[in-house]
Amino acid sequence: MTRPLVVVANRLPVSRATDPADGRLTWQASAGGLVTALRPVVDEVGGAWIGYDDDAAGVPDRVDGLNVDLHAVGLSRAQVRGYYHGFSNRTVWPLFHDLVADPVVDRRWWHTYQDVNRAFAEVTAGALERARQSEDHDEQPLVWIQDYHLMLVPEMLRNMASTADTPVGFFLHIPFPPPELVARLPWRDQLLQGMLAADAVGFHTVRYRDNFVRAVQQLFPGVTTLGDSIALPDGRHVRCVAHPISIDADAFAELATSAATEAELADLREQFAGRRVLLGVDRLDYTKGIRHRLQAIELLLEREPDLRGKVAFVQIAVPSRDDVKEYRDLRTEVETEVGRINGRFTEPGHDVPVHYFYRGVSREQLAAYYRLADVMCVTPLKDGMNLVAKEFVTCQAAGDEAGALLLSEFAGAILEFGEQAVRCNPFDVEGLSYLLASALELPETERRRRIQAMAEAVRERDVYRWVADELAAIERGHGGI
Ligand code: UDP
Repeated sequence: MTRPLVVVANRLPVSRATDPADGRLTWQASAGGLVTALRPVVDEVGGAWIGYDDDAAGVPDRVDGLNVDLHAVGLSRAQVRGYYHGFSNRTVWPLFHDLVADPVVDRRWWHTYQDVNRAFAEVTAGALERARQSEDHDEQPLVWIQDYHLMLVPEMLRNMASTADTPVGFFLHIPFPPPELVARLPWRDQLLQGMLAADAVGFHTVRYRDNFVRAVQQLFPGVTTLGDSIALPDGRHVRCVAHPISIDADAFAELATSAATEAELADLREQFAGRRVLLGVDRLDYTKGIRHRLQAIELLLEREPDLRGKVAFVQIAVPSRDDVKEYRDLRTEVETEVGRINGRFTEPGHDVPVHYFYRGVSREQLAAYYRLADVMCVTPLKDGMNLVAKEFVTCQAAGDEAGALLLSEFAGAILEFGEQAVRCNPFDVEGLSYLLASALELPETERRRRIQAMAEAVRERDVYRWVADELAAIERGHGGI
């Protein structure tokens, strides 16, 4: 690609840090997946990034080592409440995750969501203008809008005279639900129309893409499909594509065998000597099925007394959205569950069966836990993709480990791992407890073979492939090819 790239996402790809030498506030590129993925592209073509920051005026124009101009969108606290905590995370998030929690429908949040999307579109239009005037580029920039926070932005850009002809792509990082669920949303037409203004709309899986196409067909008369495009009554075509997001597989393989990770792993092996380790790594989110998983562990220990003292379950729960009530309630429920299991099964003088961390861990610790695990429990009730599963198999394969991956049928990653993972239905708690036991019993050679096969699948479709496929689809969509 030679066009400059303009990324529009909820957050900017930078974070504040304190200079250890003199205590001054500095800025650095953040380590997020999207930033890592786009770095090689923006290093080459440059561009801009539009995102929210709670101190927009303090954001620098650029930070060292990241070849993009930063454009911060300033929002009031009331706007963040309505747009982010409200409409995005309490209406769209549960609805698009197949109603695993009840969506809250609030018209005020919807109005704020529209206002904030407009603010993003206006800042984007300004950034495009600047990029066009820059002498460095003779090609029009390409705009790539990310995720459910910004579903109206493609249409808003299309409706502005200065940006009407810009190539625009949209990628949805969460599932797209079946049309009958979308239909419940009072503003379903506006959201779909917002997305349909893009040249290409991307999803993780063909299932999500097909759900989107069916929803559009059901809600808008006169729409037809042509290959992987939707043909709209006004003659425009919108490419609808499935491109699974992934990880930087080489970087994770390197991390998994680094000296720092090996040192962490040696400590963990000592700590858990004589026990098999079951592992969960999730943001503390009700979509992740953490409570069902804990109940399955409890059933397993109840049913198989021989396993007590011989297995440990480690749950890393990364704090998330703790200013939303549902997330605070979930934390209480999970911690009650952990306390009950440890209260029931801890023997005097022995370690607890459940190790629970309510915090993030370092990259090296995470890689060490991935390598340590005998069974990685990725059991979400619904998950757009799930990168933890991909990180686990990559770290295990790099370290020549032989763990098993217990993977929910409702995670996007299941489509890439097929039968190599131990598939589970996380709603079936008793079934889950049996599957945990059988995953522990898989022969070692079989486990190693499956890990290698899954890691190979991740290597083949890494995050750089995702970026390349997406940008190519937007170009083709824009060119009408
Ligand atoms: N992760 C992290 N810190 C931790 C544990 C996990 O940053 O202490 C990362 C993990 O490496 C993964 C991400 O959090 O890249 C979770 O991504 P996933 O797709 O599994 O779920 P999401 O949180 O996006 O729903």
